[in-house]
Amino acid sequence: MKLIFIGPQGSGKGTQAFRLKEKLNIPHISTGDIFRENIKNNTELGIEAQKYMNEGKLVPDELVIRLIKDRLSQDDAKTGFILDGFPRNTEQAKALSEATDIDKVVLIDLDDATAIERIGGRRTCKKCGTVYHVKFNPPKEEGKCDEDGEELIQRDDDKEEAIKKRLEIYHKETQPISDFYKEQGILISVDGSKSIDDVEKDINKKLGL
Ligand code: AMP
Repeated sequence: MKLIFIGPQGSGKGTQAFRLKEKLNIPHISTGDIFRENIKNNTELGIEAQKYMNEGKLVPDELVIRLIKDRLSQDDAKTGFILDGFPRNTEQAKALSEATDIDKVVLIDLDDATAIERIGGRRTCKKCGTVYHVKFNPPKEEGKCDEDGEELIQRDDDKEEAIKKRLEIYHKETQPISDFYKEQGILISVDGSKSIDDVEKDINKKLGL
């Protein structure tokens, strides 16, 4: 199954994509994760992407499209995948249509106030990347990772100014692509304000799983 997950930051896209990937045994391809991994490893791609990411801006299309085409051509993605964070605008959606067919697009909806509350409280382990939330999923000891005891930090692009910018871009550029997929009859929508388990049930039901 070839799937795309669309939703604002904080909608739980990554969490749901992870759960579904386990169920369907297909790769979960997150462009944000690929960029973060490259930043960690100080690659050329990482250095270039970081300039945009820290300010909450989109990385240029040409760079992301090249990256995703390369990733989709790998063996494990031939029969199915879950795309998370791509496409993010019509340019990217068109490039993707030329590269492959998509079976379903899952839109996870969330209002801005809830999105800001969820992302503003997000803390990430500096070392292993485990994600917590100060209110909804706190670590056992404040500021420290349960897995390895390392410091928990707030990603630069999770800070308030960057979040507002990211949501603005989402409404302006990403949300409209759901219409593009709706016209093709492959869009399903779920309410992202529900619990993680309930959103998962909705997605499975609407995908016929
Ligand atoms: P995410 O974790 O998906 O919110 O992505 C974090 C950041 O990576 C975004 O704010 C962008 O700067 C960059 N990014 C991820 N995916 C894309 C994409 N498809 N197009 C452009 N920039 C992207």
